[in-house]
Amino acid sequence: KTLCAAGIIAGLLAFFWRDTFNPDSISGARVLLTGASTGIGEQMAYHYSRFGAEIVLTARRGTLLQKVMEKCLQLGAKKVFYIQADMSSPQAPEKVVQFALQKLGGLDHLVLNHIGGTPFRMWDGDVEHTRWLMQVNFLSYVALASAALPILAESKGSLVVVSSLTGKISTPFTTSYSATKFALDGFFSSLRHELAMQKQDVCITLCILGLIDTEMALEKTRCVCAAYPAAEAALAIIKGGATRAREVFYPWWLELLCCLRDWFPDQRDGVIQSFYNYTSA
Ligand code: NDP
Repeated sequence: KTLCAAGIIAGLLAFFWRDTFNPDSISGARVLLTGASTGIGEQMAYHYSRFGAEIVLTARRGTLLQKVMEKCLQLGAKKVFYIQADMSSPQAPEKVVQFALQKLGGLDHLVLNHIGGTPFRMWDGDVEHTRWLMQVNFLSYVALASAALPILAESKGSLVVVSSLTGKISTPFTTSYSATKFALDGFFSSLRHELAMQKQDVCITLCILGLIDTEMALEKTRCVCAAYPAAEAALAIIKGGATRAREVFYPWWLELLCCLRDWFPDQRDGVIQSFYNYTSA
């Protein structure tokens, strides 16, 4: 009986977590990817290239984007272009979307991934920094999405938003960053309903990532816990967008953590307190 029950559970898990991703769905897809010069964005650029996509890359540093572009062409991208843009400028999102439209003639995937630099430290009252970070990490996402939505509606495309566990569960030393990621969840989860209401076939995929081994993350957190590989995180994001998933959790067990978040708030805060080694006043 026990064996039979285990078999049924394993079968159900395999059914719900089966990989329905078809790499052909990305071949020839027109992709605009932000934050593409380093880290997870750079890795996404390489995966999209291997799948034969047509890509527009954007970030601030042209020398890095040029190198990523060259590698993308070697890996098999059908077309690659790049545009330098600083998302702290309110004009940048419209300019970038128009560039992508002009180069690719349309858009199937908009992947919003960039973030502005922010210190991993206790809140020091720097409201100006929070305002700036909101512009880069949140408002520019809203502006990029809003400029691209009519084009994505035509292609029945995908809008992929890269977020973080700290956009679902708050932890110390990430006040402003966490606020920008919670804001993304609020805005894009509400927009998902509105698109469905208007019968617009644009899917929104919110990606919840744990600690990933990018240079930026390892340098900031100096965390002793295991960091997951950027190339795997990048692939999980791409698969989520291509299969039109509502949310992607990488690593997968973050989904369980997020379920427990609201059921057991005291235990949740207890775990965070013991991880950061403090007791409440
Ligand atoms: P990186 O710092 O490696 O990459 C950030 C990218 O954003 C770079 O391409 C950078 O390029 C670009 N960028 C920075 N500032 C601006 C700006 N003002 N305007 C336009 N582009 C800018 O970060 P990761 O790869 O680690 O993170 C990618 C995503 O994954 C983010 O959304 C992050 O929140 C999320 N994430 C990452 C985790 C991790 O542990 N690494 C954990 C959870 C979520 P340039 O400097 O050339 O502009």
